[in-house]
Amino acid sequence: MAAEFIAALVEVVGPEQVLIDGEQAAPYLTEWRGAFRPQAAAIVRPADVNEISRVLVVAARYNVAVVPQAGNTGTVGGSAADDAKGEIVLNLERLNRVREIDAHNATMTVEAGCTLADAQRAAEAAGFYLPIQLASRERCRIGGNLATNAGGLNVVYYGNTRDRVLGLEVVLADGRVWDNLTGLRKDNSGYDLNDLFVGSEGTLGIITAAVLELADPPQQRAVAFCALPDVEAAVTLQSRLRRETGQHVVGCELISDQALALACDYASDCVRPFAEPSPWYLLVEVAISAAGDWLTSTLKRTLDEARQESLIIDRVVGESASDMDRLWKLRTSIPPAQTAAGASIKHDISLPVSSLPAFIADMVPRLHAAVPAIRPCIFGHVGDGNLHFNLTRPVTMSDADFRSHEAALHRLVHDRVAAMRGSIAAEHGVGRLKVDEIVRLKSPVEIDMLRAVKAALDPGNRLNPGVVVRI
Ligand code: FAD
Repeated sequence: MAAEFIAALVEVVGPEQVLIDGEQAAPYLTEWRGAFRPQAAAIVRPADVNEISRVLVVAARYNVAVVPQAGNTGTVGGSAADDAKGEIVLNLERLNRVREIDAHNATMTVEAGCTLADAQRAAEAAGFYLPIQLASRERCRIGGNLATNAGGLNVVYYGNTRDRVLGLEVVLADGRVWDNLTGLRKDNSGYDLNDLFVGSEGTLGIITAAVLELADPPQQRAVAFCALPDVEAAVTLQSRLRRETGQHVVGCELISDQALALACDYASDCVRPFAEPSPWYLLVEVAISAAGDWLTSTLKRTLDEARQESLIIDRVVGESASDMDRLWKLRTSIPPAQTAAGASIKHDISLPVSSLPAFIADMVPRLHAAVPAIRPCIFGHVGDGNLHFNLTRPVTMSDADFRSHEAALHRLVHDRVAAMRGSIAAEHGVGRLKVDEIVRLKSPVEIDMLRAVKAALDPGNRLNPGVVVRI
């Protein structure tokens, strides 16, 4: 059967586009975090929608499962196939065209294998801005962004990737193609099927193209980095800045002093902006697409008033591109610094913004009780309630010893998040990593609904089985 199956795939995509093993297949069977050891019967690289449809028909005939893969930068193992005989990786990177930019509709139609950065460059060349801001932009691809409903650094203003979507083209498990590349802003003619596929992590269909809504590029921009006494101050300041700027806060990142210390220890171009450390920091970017110069002065005035009230301890405002980049670097250097600092145990959680201070105050002593000298390296998108509640190992503990606490620490954090009605998969998705936790923490009625949707669209359980929900 194996040889026959491979021959049928070759007939669809050609011999060069079916990679069986060796060096050519290796990059597609590598999971960058090292948490999974992917394996698959073959990597298949179709050129277009028609070939994808035919690959799915072949997979159905031989009852082989299909793991969609775009840029392979996901963090939860969603594109890491795990069956050397019964699964193939369907890689989308050859579908990499921008099909159309419709200036008056302010949309672009882009294929799933286009990198986010290439899509952004095409939007920019046409005078627009595609506001999905991920550090992985040169490697991740639109199909992956859609399938994970990626978040990132500007969700507080522009929303998640889902909020860009005005139409999709999807190949279903049985090979049929659903063409909904409409670009409509209003369409109440049934259930919202676009929304069903966005965030489905390859388990309901193969997204092959999308119509994405574009924004106008910002003309006024400024970035502030504020030193704060506590998390309450961050929550108060972000809502005040939103109100004072007319909802034009486009980035809002909370940073603990531990996280800033790691960034400044490990990244040569990160320098602490203040002489004295503070317990917490808030990085805020304000931007607007209208011309003028009022936004920066509003930002500065609001921060000065906040300082007079002792809401903030100190602040620095960057107005030039290089100053803004320098301040953002203090935030974007944290994840690589954390990797360099030894094992860390990560949590991608969200709560209502107002609940974050109570959550952190409650959790930190419990973590220290569980693992003395643990380094909670907390940072994240406080403006939309999403924290990377990451725990770095104690300086004197080995990585292996720290890892032995992983399950217990996950349970400690996740149970508290669930008790406060938050999410344990805020922006990175469920993948293979959190399938069991989702079952443990979601209500049975919700799990039943997830399974019913999966069974309706993929009754043979051939699309990314074992990801998001098991049926
Ligand atoms: P992949 O990893 O290839 O796939 C991800 C999932 O989508 C898998 O389940 C896969 O099966 C499915 N899939 C892929 N393509 C398709 C398709 N065409 N149809 C159906 N299913 C498909 N994520 C954030 O949300 N916010 C961040 O700020 C962020 N920052 C990051 C920074 C770095 C440095 C890195 C390495 C990653 C970061 N990520 C972030 C995670 C990752 O980049 C995003 O999840 C991204 O959207 C994944 O895109 P991808 O093309 O790499 O998808």
